[in-house]
Amino acid sequence: MTRRNFLLYSSTVTATVASGSALESSDMFLSQNEYKSLISLDLKLRQIKRYVGFGNFNLLSYEDSLKIAARVPKIGRFTKEEIELTYKFFYENPSKYGFYGERTCFNINNKISKKDVVKIPHSGHYIFKGKSTHDYNRIISDIGDTLYLTSGVRNVVKQLSLYCSKLKSLKGNMTQASLDIAPPSHSFHTIGDFDVGKMGLGGKNFTSAFAKTKEFHQMTQLEYIHIRYSPNNLDGVRYEPWHVKIV
Ligand SMILES: [Zn+2]
Repeated sequence: MTRRNFLLYSSTVTATVASGSALESSDMFLSQNEYKSLISLDLKLRQIKRYVGFGNFNLLSYEDSLKIAARVPKIGRFTKEEIELTYKFFYENPSKYGFYGERTCFNINNKISKKDVVKIPHSGHYIFKGKSTHDYNRIISDIGDTLYLTSGVRNVVKQLSLYCSKLKSLKGNMTQASLDIAPPSHSFHTIGDFDVGKMGLGGKNFTSAFAKTKEFHQMTQLEYIHIRYSPNNLDGVRYEPWHVKIV
C-alpha cells in the first residue's frame, strides 16, 4: 500500500468508527474543519429560529438570516467558514452522496412573500396559495381533522437548518444524511410540497409508523394524491409516506 492510499484508508476507517455505523467504508464525510463549522452554524441557525419565531423561520431568506446574525450580538455574524459550508450544501451537486433528486431552488437568497402563502392555524406552518392550498383543504375534508399539516413551506434557511441538524446527528456523514433529507437547494417544500401526519402520533409521523395509520390508508385511496418518495424511489431518498407531492 502506498503512503497516500494508506492515509486515505486510515481516514475512512476513523470516520466510520466516529459515525458509529456499520462498516460503510464508502460513506463520505465532512472534513474535520467543515464539521467544526457545521456545529457552530447549527447553533446559529437555532438561535435565529428562536429570535424570529418558528413560523417566520419557515419563510426567512438566507440574506435576512445573515443580517439578523450580524445585528444581534448574542448570535454573531456568520464566519467565512460557515458561509462557505452553506454554499457547499446549496450549490454542490449532491449526486456524489447518493441524492439524485432534482434541484428546486437556484438562488440561495430565494424570497418567499407572505402574500403567496397561507398560514395554517395552530401549526406554525404555511402552504403556498393555489394548488397546494387547494389539495390540502381537499385532503382534510376527505379524511377529517385527525390528519394535520406537520411541515409546509420551507425556504432555504429552514431546509438548511434541518439539513445541518441531521448531518450533526450523523457526525458529518454526507452519504447517510442524503438518504434522510434533501439538501437546502433540493427540497420540494421550497416550491409547494408539504407533509401531513396523524394527530397524536407526534414524531412517529416521520417514520414508517405513519404508513400503518387509517389516515394514510385513506390517503392512498384518493386519486389526486401522490406520495413523492415511494419505496425504492430513484431519487435515493428513504420511503416518506407523509410527504405529499404537489409540484
Ligand atoms: Zn416532506
